[in-house]
Amino acid sequence: MNVPVAEIAHFWRPARFMVIAAHPDDADFGPAATAAAWIDAGSVGWLVCCTSGDAGGEDPDIDPGELGTLRETEQKAAAAIVGYAGVSFLHQPDGALENDLALRELLVREIRTFRPDAILATDPEVVFHSGGGVNHSDHRAAGMAAVDAVYPAARNPMAFPWLAKGGLAAHVVRRLYLVWPNDPNVWVEVEATVGRKIDALRAHASQIREPDRLESRIREWVAEDGAKIGVTAAEAFRLVVIEDDDDEGPSGGTAEAAAEVAANTEEVAAATD
Ligand SMILES: [Zn+2]
Repeated sequence: MNVPVAEIAHFWRPARFMVIAAHPDDADFGPAATAAAWIDAGSVGWLVCCTSGDAGGEDPDIDPGELGTLRETEQKAAAAIVGYAGVSFLHQPDGALENDLALRELLVREIRTFRPDAILATDPEVVFHSGGGVNHSDHRAAGMAAVDAVYPAARNPMAFPWLAKGGLAAHVVRRLYLVWPNDPNVWVEVEATVGRKIDALRAHASQIREPDRLESRIREWVAEDGAKIGVTAAEAFRLVVIEDDDDEGPSGGTAEAAAEVAANTEEVAAATD
């Protein structure tokens, strides 16, 4: 018997996307399988880590500088597995990240340099996860700084005017995909790339306490989200459309939009045959 599914898979894909994360490993616990799927389909991705995760341990005697260096190495290895074109580390303090003007300027520099169509960042409105637990303050700060950097700062040449004067022209980001949302509205099918997400997570050896359970944990998570769209693996996001896309409109991933795009694609195929 077919089980009715609640939603359809999200199909829009940015040509260029940037993941903005608070810590090394957030991007891999977060949207890594989606990033890998988009990259496999031809997108170019860039990862920005606001901190180097220098407080991500439980031994007060460990040297934070050494830990940060180790975690940057781990994140670069993980990013290579996912297929990002590169990683930027902003070297902000782990555990004390603030959505302040200094962080927003750093993010605007990254956005105007790489010029992504979409930004993926942790949902800043989540203080408590609906499944239980508190969302790390750094995740909230990084998410809110990403939102504020996207709109209005990156697109406004008069925000941080020395940037535009120095050659970093204003840039419009079309969409935000908010990661770890309590209220997701799109689900990306990731059956082909969930293995890369798990491999990328294994690269964060200093952070994985139960490596034997990692794969089953991740497969459980993606299966939960996959059930929404009738597949074995998906990642869920809260999509915020800032600029309409001609092919899809502002609603983002509705069945009507999917049918319309499919019809347009057929028309284009017929016209070019
Ligand atoms: Zn984190």
